[in-house]
Amino acid sequence: MSKVKVEKIKRPEKIGLPFMLDFYPLQDEKYTRISQFFKNLKDGHLTTTKCEKCKEVLWPPRIICPHCHTEDLKWIDLGTEGEVHAFTEITLGAPLGFVEDTPFCTGIVQIGGLLISARIDDVRYEDLKIGDKVRLKIVELPDQRVFFRFSKSKNE
Ligand SMILES: [Zn+2]
Repeated sequence: MSKVKVEKIKRPEKIGLPFMLDFYPLQDEKYTRISQFFKNLKDGHLTTTKCEKCKEVLWPPRIICPHCHTEDLKWIDLGTEGEVHAFTEITLGAPLGFVEDTPFCTGIVQIGGLLISARIDDVRYEDLKIGDKVRLKIVELPDQRVFFRFSKSKNE
């Protein structure tokens, strides 16, 4: 039996964890057909897809309508003004990338006829209530990508 040479694997000193645990650059049009969502966000618009055949407004944005299976979808703007439908405060067990932000509010926001899960910034849990008006807030992630949150309107 011949002896197999054992090679040492050179491990990097440090392994960088992907931000928000997404393993692919999901905002890039090379990897996703909903890259338009992120382009629209960069331009200040929260958008989603609406089915041109059955007229269903889809969330999250899709490339195929799950109701009638057409690819005939169009992008629609959901606006910037939402209303708190439900909320909670994250104090422990925050997902990777959010631990340093605790405590923070997150909730369900009604906007454009949809109920969307998102963080709610610029307000303490004690000062938030169901029905509060919130405004779209677009945040730039450390790697130049963008995502959306909501912010408690200052004029409330
Ligand atoms: Zn449809």
